[in-house]
Amino acid sequence: MRAVVVDAAGSRPEVRDVPQPSAPDGGVVVRVVATGMCRSDWHAWAGHDEIAFPHVPGHELAGEVVEVGAGVARWTVGDKVTVPFVCGCGRCAWCLGGNAQVCPDQEQPGFTHWGSFAEYVALHAADTNLVAIPEQVSFATAASLGCRFATAYRALVGRARITEGEWVTVIGAGGVGLSTVMIARALGGRVIAVDRNPEALALAADVGAEHTLLADGTDIPSAVADLVNGGSDIAIDAVGSEQTCADAILSLRRRGRLVQVGLLPPVGGHPRVPMARVIAWELDVLGSHGMAAADYPGMLALIEAGSLQPQRLIERTIGLDDAAALLPGFDQATVAGITIIDPIR
Ligand SMILES: [Zn+2]
Ligand SMILES: [Zn+2]
Repeated sequence: MRAVVVDAAGSRPEVRDVPQPSAPDGGVVVRVVATGMCRSDWHAWAGHDEIAFPHVPGHELAGEVVEVGAGVARWTVGDKVTVPFVCGCGRCAWCLGGNAQVCPDQEQPGFTHWGSFAEYVALHAADTNLVAIPEQVSFATAASLGCRFATAYRALVGRARITEGEWVTVIGAGGVGLSTVMIARALGGRVIAVDRNPEALALAADVGAEHTLLADGTDIPSAVADLVNGGSDIAIDAVGSEQTCADAILSLRRRGRLVQVGLLPPVGGHPRVPMARVIAWELDVLGSHGMAAADYPGMLALIEAGSLQPQRLIERTIGLDDAAALLPGFDQATVAGITIIDPIR
């Protein structure tokens, strides 16, 4: 099969033929129809995760089951499926309690094993992790859910427990940030979006942000406090830098909740976080790490009903060759919205 292969951390990705995977016990092989590219793929490429090279990235996928391993009960060849980027083991207390997103024995396609920038991908513990794609939902839309959209949904619903009328500051209007804006709005929240890219802010306004702030050196927390009288109820750092994390925390009103979604890998040392404010204002600092397959039905119901439209966030569809060329610079990408890869394009 053709795949995007990275031979060493930071090396130029190459598209070439590699052996097709076979289904592990309890798992399946999926023919990839659509797969998203996000900043996490760039982190893996740059060597910020523990990756065994040569490596195939890709973790936001949708496709069709083509092979079923021993012991799989719920899935058969031909099923149209997607999967959360964190795949739980299916046996531990966390998985059995519906929280596979924090499974200590988790697998992540594109990180712990070869991912979906390829024609085929192997997935583990299929009965725990696979999600059937509803008839009305396209493969590209389904692929756009697995990482950023589901993460945004869980950050707001499962972690921040958003209620109607609350103000949400969303820092970063890339894929996860725009997803957060759209979901917050659909759930009755009011949104301030922050980004350094005016085009991304225009898109954020399109999908429901009431206010937008250009991060051009402006004092973001003061600007938020001016807009909504003392800060927002919830802040989401969808970027993951010392600056954006601090801006998110300092944009909160007293007793507000931060959900940290953007990754902060300690490559340049651990980030400084304004904990004095967290203590004095009794802020909640929450992490969010994807969403378990068990929690997909609530989100899929809103998509089927049309109140959430993740397909509106898809910016472009590219092939494997373009994906290989784009990956090394993806941390600097200014394209707003989600990039989808079609492996046979
Ligand atoms: Zn587990
Ligand atoms: Zn992702």
